[in-house]
Amino acid sequence: MDTAHVRDVDPAVADALAGERDRQEQTLAMIASENHVSEAVLEAQGSVLTNKYAEGYPGSRYYAGCEYADEVEELAIERATELWGADHVNVQPHSGTQANQAVYYAVLEPGDKILSLDLTHGGHLSHGHPANFTGQIYDVEQYEVDPDTGYIDYDGLRAAAESFDPDIIVSGYSAYPRTVEWDRIQAAADAVDAYHLADIAHITGLVAAGVHPSPVGIADFVTGSTHKTIRAGRGGIVMCDEAFADDIDKAVFPGGQGGPLMHNIAGKAVGFKEALEPEFEAYTEQVVANANTLAETLQDHGLSLVSGGTDNHLVLADLRDSHPDLPGGDAEDALAAANIVLNGNTVPGETRSPFNPSGIRAGTAGLTTRGFDEEATAEVGDLIYRVVDNVESDDVIYEVGERVAELCEEYPLYE
Ligand SMILES: *Cc1c(COP(=O)(O)O)cnc(C)c1O
Repeated sequence: MDTAHVRDVDPAVADALAGERDRQEQTLAMIASENHVSEAVLEAQGSVLTNKYAEGYPGSRYYAGCEYADEVEELAIERATELWGADHVNVQPHSGTQANQAVYYAVLEPGDKILSLDLTHGGHLSHGHPANFTGQIYDVEQYEVDPDTGYIDYDGLRAAAESFDPDIIVSGYSAYPRTVEWDRIQAAADAVDAYHLADIAHITGLVAAGVHPSPVGIADFVTGSTHKTIRAGRGGIVMCDEAFADDIDKAVFPGGQGGPLMHNIAGKAVGFKEALEPEFEAYTEQVVANANTLAETLQDHGLSLVSGGTDNHLVLADLRDSHPDLPGGDAEDALAAANIVLNGNTVPGETRSPFNPSGIRAGTAGLTTRGFDEEATAEVGDLIYRVVDNVESDDVIYEVGERVAELCEEYPLYE
């Protein structure tokens, strides 16, 4: 990753880029929404396509000179169609939030009703949080996970749908470690004649590879991010049946966005091509195997996990049982000092502030990209526990940091 030109023009930014590269190389990226893209995706995203205006869609643009932009976007669409099997894919959303925005804009009017999962139970800001436009423009009610099991309370969701009569039900989550039963949510949507948006932002890669069931063909709309478990660079996508294709395309552009970020779409095309290779399926299986190992290791040490384990790439530990005086944010800080980067996270039945909540969330997508297997992940689980159990000990944090440095060297990121 040559930044010689940046260094000539702007040493301050060049230093920050070099620092960030070293930071990624020398820390364990366990924020469940993060991953590491290939150098091929980096090159595509850092390409001359950043110069090109291509408002419109392939074959019908508002600007001249779009022949290569068309080629790239068509490739991204073709590959996405192959990966997820939807009738129609729009690859232009700048992010997962903007993919969701396009769906709401396509089918809702201001004041319409959204039924979604509570943020502290694993939902997302763009599903109706009061601080997000969705919480301000639409009338939002929320369903929850079952407090005893940590699984989505599907019966409660159904009952909430029947009493609230929403226009759209949103499924798909940010901090939910279990398989989502799309058909049960669809049944609730059918019962009240609501649309169903399945937001697979976190599990886009797992769904593409078939290690998590797909909502495509069940939900009316499927949205995703392209930088979490699929390594195609920062961005979003929307998928739907042919019947909604025009409405979605218009809602993305001109409804909510101007010119597409063609360099990011090139990154998507390249990342999707990589995800169509057989190695990607093996990668996603390893991601899930590693998450299971991480879950078992933490549980063996005595940590409580929401839902008692995981089916996907993430675990959510509720520290209140084992470490009642340790908020998740403090655990996050101690772990970061040992170069293990994850986040404090709210848990179902949260009793603390969202700024320093009761849980920690950890994902295995990034480690698995570096080549970590179950054995290496189990060691990471041991290291996480040592820090959590000794947040006040500079010696422990130092020792864990030393071991993390060795692991990072053993599993290098970029050449
Ligand atoms: C990450 C995430 C998104 C997308 O977030 P962006 O940062 O806007 O790309 C959307 N929905 C869910 C459930 C997510 O976890």
